[in-house]
Amino acid sequence: EKNGTMGGDDGRILVFVRLRPMAKKEKEVGSRCCVKIVNKRDVYLTEFANENDYLRLKRLRGRHFTFDASFPDSTSQHEVYTTTTADLVEAVLQGRNGSVFCYGATGAGKTYTMLGTVDNPGVMVLAIKDLFTKIRQRSCDGNHVVHLSYLEVYNETVRDLLSPGRPLVLREDKQVMALLQRGNQNRTTEPTCANETSSRSHAILQVVIEYRVKDASMNVINRVGKLSLIDLAGSERALATDQRTLRSLEGANINRSLLALSSCINALVEGKKHIPYRNSKLTQLLKDSLGGACNTVMIANISPSNLSFGETQNTLHWADRAK
Ligand code: ADP
Ligand code: MG
Repeated sequence: EKNGTMGGDDGRILVFVRLRPMAKKEKEVGSRCCVKIVNKRDVYLTEFANENDYLRLKRLRGRHFTFDASFPDSTSQHEVYTTTTADLVEAVLQGRNGSVFCYGATGAGKTYTMLGTVDNPGVMVLAIKDLFTKIRQRSCDGNHVVHLSYLEVYNETVRDLLSPGRPLVLREDKQVMALLQRGNQNRTTEPTCANETSSRSHAILQVVIEYRVKDASMNVINRVGKLSLIDLAGSERALATDQRTLRSLEGANINRSLLALSSCINALVEGKKHIPYRNSKLTQLLKDSLGGACNTVMIANISPSNLSFGETQNTLHWADRAK
């Protein structure tokens, strides 16, 4: 099998962890690194922020985790794309559906991984570029049409971030970064923090590739594949609102989509027949792209700082259960 293939045809969810570099702000306040990645697979929590975290760690005994691959902070966007998503792009061209999620606390690197920057484009941009490269390489008579939609789920309301009412037909990959950056600017911001994307907003890029060709006896063959790339809401909210017993409606709603996703993933991991897709807007949007014959990939984003120790541990436990 080709470069980057990590299996996944058995319906298993592939789970990856990406550690981001220490931020300047974290360094300035003297934070220490509490995560070690060894052999691109093993993740160790090595230091403790304070006594409480240490006691919690001892109780949970969650010091060591292993995933399909774990990316140290030096890992390039390209390597993350190749290892996690390149095979899904290939599968989607064969008419299959697949999805890639970034999960983690606010500030852990989800948007960097999914969208990235002009200089370092992320999974969404690299996937679309790769898709067009592969379409151009296919010297066949068929006709490919690429539809794109970029949606937000916020407070259990679905909003189109690009072109309300209809998916865009994408004819080339050149302007994708600009397009997605524009979409991201339309994401809901916190009233208290006007320039920052709400940590409760989920962004969902869906790319549908339709392939039409006539076979030898002039029958039309129509193949459709869909790739969903999801920048999830910050996972800290789900846990916090959970503990506060769903006090506010807004909290309950954001919680609903993340919790519903967790429930679906648990059901899939346990091999259950009934997957509760209908419990939230997010899982409704993804019901044809999650489980069954679909390829599902999870990227758990974590910070190296001991100040985020608790969040990192929660994220690693969540990711561990998705395997
Ligand atoms: P999230 O979307 O999970 O809230 P961001 O993706 O916005 O987090 O990342 C927080 C900050 O860290 C941003 O300034 C981002 O540019 C930076 N960052 C995240 N991951 C990386 C990385 N792998 N390399 C360099 N900078 C990163
Ligand atoms: Mg973000």
